[in-house]
Amino acid sequence: MECRRCQSEPVIFLRYAGRRLCRRHFLAWIAGAVTRELRRQLRALEGQRLRERAALRLGIALSGGKDSTVMLHLATEWARQRRLEVVALAVDEGLPDYRPPSLALAAQHCAALEVVLHTIGFRDIIGEGLSELVARRPPAASPCSPCGVLRRRALNTLAREAEVDVLLLGHNLDDCAQTILMNHARGDVDRLLRMAPHLHRQPGLVPRLLPLRRVPEREVMLYALLSGIAFHDGTCPYAGEAQRNVFRETLLQLESQTPGTRHALLRGADRLRERLDPPRPLTPCPECGEPAGGGICRFCRDYGTGAQPAGGAVS
Ligand code: SF4
Repeated sequence: MECRRCQSEPVIFLRYAGRRLCRRHFLAWIAGAVTRELRRQLRALEGQRLRERAALRLGIALSGGKDSTVMLHLATEWARQRRLEVVALAVDEGLPDYRPPSLALAAQHCAALEVVLHTIGFRDIIGEGLSELVARRPPAASPCSPCGVLRRRALNTLAREAEVDVLLLGHNLDDCAQTILMNHARGDVDRLLRMAPHLHRQPGLVPRLLPLRRVPEREVMLYALLSGIAFHDGTCPYAGEAQRNVFRETLLQLESQTPGTRHALLRGADRLRERLDPPRPLTPCPECGEPAGGGICRFCRDYGTGAQPAGGAVS
């Protein structure tokens, strides 16, 4: 069997696409898929304004893991060819032994690419790290639940402070399909419709785009390995408690029996968004003024207004 594009030996068989690709054509395939998706999402968000926005500033959410590091490399190269600005944004959840090495690697990549890295910690917004919070107030569900709320708040705050126009998240196809399945399982249509990539700007919320959303996790991993991109592959100490684990397993089984399931979930969610009315616009939380789905935001409900940073980083 040969590469679909040349006579070289293939490094991967993309079952859902029915094609074998050699190293060179696989790397080109991924780079093309990511940059095409980024362009498509920017166009959907900005419309005609995109042509006028010569000074568009991209914020890349960077953890040092494979997904965000691959995105940093691909998006930076793409943006620089178009003279667009890029900065990297990192969140330190306060997980000793896990996050520090990944942030150190993130800083090395930024230095090599000459990208400015901005960092914010959970400690900056609630005065303590996740491990301390979990020890003091064990969450009813998994620690991923407070972690998600705090990370979203931290990233939006940092993105606004860094004055970026859009925030790029490194969610791959598996991540997106799991989230879609979880929202379906909970019957949470509003959340399904509010998922990134965002199609509209909302006051106070930096729109989020997902350039890797069509690339399966194992292909992101292979891209990083074949292109020599070093990444942190440690595991969060709370990963085993994540509620999405069961959805990950279910999806892997479905995908192996019916190749293309993850792509189909993505297509289905996109079609729903085209056919249904957009979700209610976000409104300012009456406690902190941050954009919320209605009433008091989850951050204030769980952490109270006293959780705001002394320096006023959360407006
Ligand atoms: Fe946060 Fe859960 Fe991810 Fe750990 S596994 S970083 S707790 S979301």
